[in-house]
Amino acid sequence: MIRVGINGYGTIGKRVADAVRKQKDMELVGVTAVHPHYKYTLAQQKGIPLYAVEMKSLEAMRASGANIRGTLNDLLQRVDVVIDASPGDTGETNKPIYEQAGVKAVFQGGEEHGLTGLSFVAQCNFEDAVGKSMVRVVSCNTTGLCRTLNAINKGPGISTARAVLARRATDPDDVKKGPIDAVVLDPTTLPSHHGPDVLSVLKGFDVVTMAFKIPTTHLHLHSLIITLKKPAAKEDLVAALQHAPRMMLVEGKAGFKSTASIMDLAREMGRPRNDIYEATVWKDSVTVVGSDAYMFLAVHQEAIVVPENIDAVRALSGGYSRDQSIKLTDESLGIPHP
Ligand code: NAD
Repeated sequence: MIRVGINGYGTIGKRVADAVRKQKDMELVGVTAVHPHYKYTLAQQKGIPLYAVEMKSLEAMRASGANIRGTLNDLLQRVDVVIDASPGDTGETNKPIYEQAGVKAVFQGGEEHGLTGLSFVAQCNFEDAVGKSMVRVVSCNTTGLCRTLNAINKGPGISTARAVLARRATDPDDVKKGPIDAVVLDPTTLPSHHGPDVLSVLKGFDVVTMAFKIPTTHLHLHSLIITLKKPAAKEDLVAALQHAPRMMLVEGKAGFKSTASIMDLAREMGRPRNDIYEATVWKDSVTVVGSDAYMFLAVHQEAIVVPENIDAVRALSGGYSRDQSIKLTDESLGIPHP
């Protein structure tokens, strides 16, 4: 059993914790808590052991009646791998704590690539992380782009990729961020950071991206323009996407007219927390004009990196091939395997 701890129990940490609990080869030793909150009460009710992120948290959590097993340092003594799902840019502070404890670590996309020097998307570069001590699972948008571009690149091949990202403003439970009534250029200078981030995982072609935030909390939507290396028909691209793991194809004519339909699909499928782990491409949007391919891609920001975190734990721990790990993860999460 791989003993796993999670430091940071928010949007990503909660989901990854439940995913770890579904793995036959992993044990969730505990998660960290910061201050009293119903999410920790619910975690405790599920049987997830709680540890305080620091001494101040320990006192506040115990005063609230929570059963706290110790601090982050105690948790680190009991795990093989820690998944750091703390807020972006906290990784730099946490990295030396994990190193001192001699624990392997998986960081998230809110950290810079330089923190670990190794950015991860399972189906693109699982092997690079095998046996390493630290890895960074890239952001939700970069994960969606990497899966999609890797599939096309393995098919007809890619010379250049361009993407315009309409980004959800914030997550559903975050009331502090906007916009409520504006489209925010994110950033105004071009290109956005997503292109270089994709290139921290994939090599051999050029990617340029631009992004803006829109007043919605569910899903990002990417408009992709890909210049192909070899001539290809729509059917070739659709086949390449269908044969890649963790991709889902939907069609406007079947009722998928918006990102809201994707959320509705997750609800109707009975997915936990309405999570869509797959990068979702509109099959009818896939169009070839000359050597350029066009398509729409949707990314459920809260969920897409969950399977990647599970595979990152297996890669660091060793003993699994990419295909073995992806299959185990997908079966446990109910993701159809191609
Ligand atoms: P979040 O704010 O929902 O959760 C972070 C949790 O960490 C909170 O529970 C917070 O109380 C706790 N925390 C605060 N300070 C801490 C500390 N010093 N040590 C440990 N925990 C601490 O954030 P999130 O959205 O889950 O993001 C976590 C990471 O995942 C970030 O790097 C983010 O960029 C990345 N990510 C987020 C999304 C998304 O859409 N939410 C998608 C992909 C990747």
